[in-house]
Amino acid sequence: MNDSIQGPFRCPACSGQSCAVIETVSIPEQHLRYAANDVAGASRLDHSHGASLEAYRMVGCRDCGLEFANPLTAPSDAWYSELYGQIHLYPTARWEFDLVAQALGATDVVVDYGCGSGEFLLSVRDKVGRAEGFDFSAAAVAASVSKGLQVHRLDLDGLPAGDTLPAKADHVVAFHVLEHLARPGALFEFAKGVIRPSGRLWVAVPSDRRASRVYGEADALDSPPHHLSRWSISALEAVGLAHGWTMERHLYEPLPSTLAVWEATRRLPFFHRVSSRWRSLERFARRVLAAGVWLSRRHVRVNASGFSMLACYRRAEAS
Ligand SMILES: [Zn+2]
Repeated sequence: MNDSIQGPFRCPACSGQSCAVIETVSIPEQHLRYAANDVAGASRLDHSHGASLEAYRMVGCRDCGLEFANPLTAPSDAWYSELYGQIHLYPTARWEFDLVAQALGATDVVVDYGCGSGEFLLSVRDKVGRAEGFDFSAAAVAASVSKGLQVHRLDLDGLPAGDTLPAKADHVVAFHVLEHLARPGALFEFAKGVIRPSGRLWVAVPSDRRASRVYGEADALDSPPHHLSRWSISALEAVGLAHGWTMERHLYEPLPSTLAVWEATRRLPFFHRVSSRWRSLERFARRVLAAGVWLSRRHVRVNASGFSMLACYRRAEAS
């Protein structure tokens, strides 16, 4: 999975070379953040990372807006097991699960690339003709198989290990996988190998308008080693085109207005100074602040989305 590039940088989405370093990310410092300052937990992450690296650089592509790690080196399977043992990151429900489920037909073959513990497959397997998954992690594959799912292992290049090839798929889905890949093109190559000509590829990644991004905040889990890339709409379109896919739709997860107001309110500089011995008084004061945000329309101007964004692709040749 090592596709490291030492400058001059080349964008792994659009192949552009108009790139610049935007930040340096220390791996030991990131591990302390992931472990919530537990030194023993951070040390276990240090030892399981698998690459002799102290830091990543984050590089921004001026052409498509992709931000990517340099080197593009993913942590080991053991590192992911250790991290997900420390923090729970596999949700059982996601906005994009429901959205894609609505597009599936009763006889369709669905392939989930990077299916994790199989939550999406479980939610659709009784509604489609066949549901099958692939994952990098041996533990995730074992967990999925124990639930009665048909799930296979991917090798380090992101292709099926051994001679396991799924049936021709009507839909390939990849939810929150692309940002972990050392070679983002692997996902699109895999999908090309298994999709029917009329099939669709659905790719969900962290939204470039999620609250932490529009408010310009550091987000340790949205940075290396956990996420090796941060995607824009242009970058999603470019990486698809480079591998024979046309992006036909792009959607943002909506952020309900009450949540948008809350995201704006809790970031007001004086929000945390509103404290009182009387909890009810504190709650009242914070509601007054939220009412002020609502009236000022600050949350509308910021225009934050929910957690995810979703791209739907079709084969370029099928147009
Ligand atoms: Zn680019």
